[in-house]
Amino acid sequence: MLVDTYGRVATDLRVSLTDRCNLRCTYCMPEEGLQWLAKPDLLSDDEIVRLVEIAVSRLGVTEVRFTGGEPLLRPGLTGIVERCAALAPAPRLSLTTNGIGLKRTAAALRAAGLHRVNVSLDTLRPDVFKTLTRRDRHRDVLAGLEAASEAGLTPVKINTVLMPGLNDDEAPQMLAWAIDHAYELRFIEQMPLDAQHGWTRDGMITAGDILTSLRTRFTLTPEGDDRRGSAPAERWIVDGGPHRVGVIASVTRPFCRACDRTRLTADGQVRNCLFAREETDLRAALRSDAPDEEIAALWRQAMWGKKAGSGLDDPEFLQPDRPMSAIGG
Ligand code: SAM
Ligand code: SF4
Repeated sequence: MLVDTYGRVATDLRVSLTDRCNLRCTYCMPEEGLQWLAKPDLLSDDEIVRLVEIAVSRLGVTEVRFTGGEPLLRPGLTGIVERCAALAPAPRLSLTTNGIGLKRTAAALRAAGLHRVNVSLDTLRPDVFKTLTRRDRHRDVLAGLEAASEAGLTPVKINTVLMPGLNDDEAPQMLAWAIDHAYELRFIEQMPLDAQHGWTRDGMITAGDILTSLRTRFTLTPEGDDRRGSAPAERWIVDGGPHRVGVIASVTRPFCRACDRTRLTADGQVRNCLFAREETDLRAALRSDAPDEEIAALWRQAMWGKKAGSGLDDPEFLQPDRPMSAIGG
């Protein structure tokens, strides 16, 4: 198992399939994009499947989420999903995506064995979407969401980041809309993981702000910690139920004590935390023909060194060298 010195066990693997993206969300990337990883540096489809197999068969991983960058840009995605779904024991498979292209791919991904999707959508207003993501693709995301529901990639969850002066007035409308469409909405606090290092604590919308805004229209009752488990979202029952809304307060109410994540970057580096500054190179081991058990041992060692928390509250906090899009969100 992937255990750390604080007794946490990582069972939830995030696999980044690419660092590239077709959007340029302001809280994530600069307008001009980033220096993308070179193709030979990316793990191949075979290498990804081998690492996922090691994780599920030797290390106790039960959940695998594909992310990026934008994972739908990875040409071999459906094949990777299909091969991971056939592993024993079979992991739960999900995908975090901006939704562009999901209209075309949702049914095939479901057929390949994907269970669920999280789609990122920050606004219901096309003009605000264009400002926030620097691309005019709002309609494509809405179409992707619909296709995901129709394909049975449910519950479809929506990730929303609120940015001051742009979409921070939209929380209640977004919740009403999500309930109407049977999407499960979760707000995520903006984190210092943007490539431009533009995040400031004073300039972010906090979980407290989000809840205050939602309460102008809804009655929210805490679902309670016993239902939360290791899930990062604190959930509230909306207007007495059955609908829920989640808030992922990574900055103001971190959930590090219950963290069960392990992360693999698109170039084969294990990270034990989003905010870690160290990585462990599994790609080098893979490419030097290391046996599975040796790779598993490296992975265990990487997780053993996981810190107690993200360090966000430390005045000495240093943002990781890689931005969120290159780590895998
Ligand atoms: N491109 C896909 C997407 O947008 O869903 C997957 C990768 S993206 C890095 C994963 C999630 O991270 C998205 O929900 C996005 O909104 C979120 N994200 C990106 N940068 C963030 C930041 N600085 N703070 C909080 N969330 C962020
Ligand atoms: Fe792309 Fe996702 Fe980053 Fe937006 S948040 S720029 S969609 S990787």
